[in-house]
Amino acid sequence: MSKKIISYSNGLGDVVFEKRPQNRSISVSVSARGVVKVTLPGYVSYLEAQQFLRTVEKKIMATKKEMADKYPAATLPTKAQLQALSRRAHDILPARTRALYELLTGKVVIRNKLGITIKDPFRYNRVAIKDNKTNWGSCSTIRNLNLNMHLVELPADLMDFVIVHELCHLVYSNHGARFHALVNTATDGREKELSKKLQGYKLL
Ligand SMILES: [Zn+2]
Repeated sequence: MSKKIISYSNGLGDVVFEKRPQNRSISVSVSARGVVKVTLPGYVSYLEAQQFLRTVEKKIMATKKEMADKYPAATLPTKAQLQALSRRAHDILPARTRALYELLTGKVVIRNKLGITIKDPFRYNRVAIKDNKTNWGSCSTIRNLNLNMHLVELPADLMDFVIVHELCHLVYSNHGARFHALVNTATDGREKELSKKLQGYKLL
């Protein structure tokens, strides 16, 4: 994934251009802080993306203004606050993930279709902590977990719920019935309740 930041003097400010080979079209987004981000498929050049941005500039400027009205700078965390939060997340999340992994490993037995017990079903490789705007957590096919640093701002039961959800994805990667049954067992029957509660918290 390659990235380029271009400064515009016309009010757009620093625009982040990011190549995403898997994308099929150019998309432009504006964050709550008013940062404009352009994601482009691998086959589109940065120059073409800049030309595209020019065609939607008026709309983007209007969105930037909307964001500034909706999220005044005072309500957004400062860079120093985000750094402190990141440090807190690095202190808490890997250790908590380990503890929940041990808890699940001791509590849940997973069998395959033949009824054979799967060894160490919740094992994971690495915990990466990110300031992600779109999800609380995710996991990769190589058993790495990505956790959002803002998880440490949630009530403890919701932070645990997100980590447990991701650990359960190491057993079932989709959101099928078996996955939900596992999360429900892992949370002592609280999956629906916790999931509903989590929806009350928005990422900014
Ligand atoms: Zn999921």
